[in-house]
Amino acid sequence: MKPGLYLRLRREKAGYTLRELAYQFASPPTVDAETAERMLAAAEIEQAPLDASAQMRLALFVPFDRAIYGHLIEGLPAASVCGTCGCSWHDPCRVANSPCAWANPQETLCTACAVRKAA
Ligand SMILES: [Zn+2]
Ligand SMILES: [Zn+2]
Repeated sequence: MKPGLYLRLRREKAGYTLRELAYQFASPPTVDAETAERMLAAAEIEQAPLDASAQMRLALFVPFDRAIYGHLIEGLPAASVCGTCGCSWHDPCRVANSPCAWANPQETLCTACAVRKAA
């Protein structure tokens, strides 16, 4: 998985449009919403990955695993990530108060997404 796709899946799972997230992410006067939106969009289209401080800020609003993101940026083997929602070991989905699990042996689809696909 590409790092930008990972961020997009995590953002969508958190229920934000890019613009909504940019407004949360912005912290005037240092970073206005427009700048934040450009930065987040550039990261999602694999143009410019988020730096460490941007990752820390993003994690306040979007649950994502910075270790996984870092590995994806560097092209190193990363922990398993659901290809549909971007959940992983530290950021599982909640289904009826239980965390999701892997629905396939390749660990590319979680049980929450498998149920949604079957429905
Ligand atoms: Zn999933
Ligand atoms: Zn899941």
